[in-house]
Amino acid sequence: MARTRLQRCTACGEYGLAEKCKECGGKMTSAAPLKYSPQDAQGARRRQREDAGSDEWIESLPTPRKEEDE
Ligand SMILES: [Zn+2]
Repeated sequence: MARTRLQRCTACGEYGLAEKCKECGGKMTSAAPLKYSPQDAQGARRRQREDAGSDEWIESLPTPRKEEDE
């Protein structure tokens, strides 16, 4: 089964399958609709930006329960 090459207008953001936008005639580029990669190619960069592993980062993580609540 061939993959649908979804295109997206660079000018107005309209989605379509043509090379030109049917709305404004703008240039369409292939859209990558929320592609998820298990390899997470940007993961290392993102974690560095978020300072993963630091105390602040740990504090920002959601916790399943608060131990002080007992
Ligand atoms: Zn357009």
